[in-house]
Amino acid sequence: MIDLSRRDVMMAAGGLAALTLPGADVRAQPGRKLGYAIVGLGGYGLGKIIPEFANCTHSRLAGVVSGDRAKAERVAAEHNLPARSIYSYDNFDRIADNPDIDIVYVCLPNAMHAAYTIRAAKAGKHVLCEKPMAISVAESEAMIAACKAANRKLMIGYRCHFEATNLEAMRRARAGEIGKLRYFRSEHAYPQGDPSQWRLKRALSGGGSLMDYGIYALQAARYMTGEEPIAVYAHESTDRSDPRFHEVEDQIEFQLEFPSGVIGSCLSGYSANQNHVLLLGDKARIEMEPATGYAGHRLWVGNRRDTEITPRPGPGKTQWAGQLDHLAHCVIEDREPIVSGEEGLRDMRIIEAIYRSARERTRVVLA
Ligand code: NAD
Repeated sequence: MIDLSRRDVMMAAGGLAALTLPGADVRAQPGRKLGYAIVGLGGYGLGKIIPEFANCTHSRLAGVVSGDRAKAERVAAEHNLPARSIYSYDNFDRIADNPDIDIVYVCLPNAMHAAYTIRAAKAGKHVLCEKPMAISVAESEAMIAACKAANRKLMIGYRCHFEATNLEAMRRARAGEIGKLRYFRSEHAYPQGDPSQWRLKRALSGGGSLMDYGIYALQAARYMTGEEPIAVYAHESTDRSDPRFHEVEDQIEFQLEFPSGVIGSCLSGYSANQNHVLLLGDKARIEMEPATGYAGHRLWVGNRRDTEITPRPGPGKTQWAGQLDHLAHCVIEDREPIVSGEEGLRDMRIIEAIYRSARERTRVVLA
C-alpha cells in the first residue's frame, strides 16, 4: 500500500543540498544531478522520457543504450553526451566503469526488463524499470534479489503516483471525503494496430492488454482504495481469428475483492478506447476521466459530475519529472522509492492470479 504521509514529506522536500546524505558512494555533491542511462530508445524512452530531463531538478541524461548505433549517436550529440556514454546491448555491462551514470532506466519490451535490471544492478547501478516490472513473479523476485544483493534501489515506472490529479483523488479518498468506500470501477482500453509489434508477441510482452494497460486499472484499484485484494475472478474475451490476437489477449475483465468489502471491477482491452476510474463511497463519488493518461486528466468529487476539482500541484513540473527526481532523492537519502520493486511484485502476483482465474474459470484467492 502506498504511504501518503511519506509521499507528502517527499513532496515537501526542497533541494538535495538540504538533505542528509547517508549513501556516500553515490557521489552526491550538492547541486550534482544524478545521471540516468536510458536503455531502449523507442517510443517511451526516447519520445517521452529523454525530453523530460529538461523538467527535472535532480536528474539528467548521462547515457544511452541502444541496438541502433546511429540513433544512439544522434541522441547523444543532441544532449552533449560523450562517446563513452553510448552503449549497445552487448557492451552494456561496461556501464559499471562509467561514474557519470548512477541510474539505469529500462524502457525495453517487457520480457527484457528482468535481464537488464539484473545486469544494471550487477554493474552497481540503481534501476528505474518500466511497467509491467517483468513478465512473471519469478522474474520480479529475481530482480528484487539482484538489487538487494548489490545494495541498489529498484523503482517501477508507475508515473501516476507522481501525477497531480491521481494524487488529489487518492488524498480525498483517504481523507474520507466520499464516506465509506464501497465500489471501484476502472476501464483501461486502447486499440492496437500493427499485428507484428512486440506488444502482440507473447515472448516479448508476456501477455496482452492486461500486462500493458489493464495494469493501470489494477494499480488504481489498489492506490485509490488503499487496500490489497484478497481474491480475483476474471473473464477473458478475445477474437483469436483477429491477427492482432493470435498470441495475446484482447479483452479481460477482472473483479477484485478487498478486505473491507469494497468490490473492484476492472476492464482491460486492446480493441476499444477508454481511460476511466470511478470510486463510490456511501456519501459521494470520485471520478477521473481521462484518469491515467499523459495529459488532460479531469477529476470530479461529489454527486455525479457536478463538482470538478483542480488538483494541487504534483511533486514535479510533470509526472515524469516527479518520477525521475523521486528516485534521485531516494538514492541520495538512501530510502525506498514509494513505488519499489515490491510494489511491482504485488501487481505481478495479482496479474498471474487474474490470468489463472480466466484460464481455469474460477475465483482465485490471493495469499
Ligand atoms: P517501443 O517499441 O516504442 O520501444 C522499444 C525499444 O526497445 C525500441 O527502442 C526497440 O528498438 C528496443 N528493443 C530492443 N530489443 C527489442 C526487441 N527484441 N524487440 C522489440 N524492441 C526491442 O516500446 P515502448 O512503448 O517504448 O515501450 C517500452 C516499455 O515502456 C514497455 O515496457 C512499456 O510497457 C513501457 N511504457 C510505459 C509507458 C508509461 O506510461 N509508463 C508508456 C509507454 C511504454
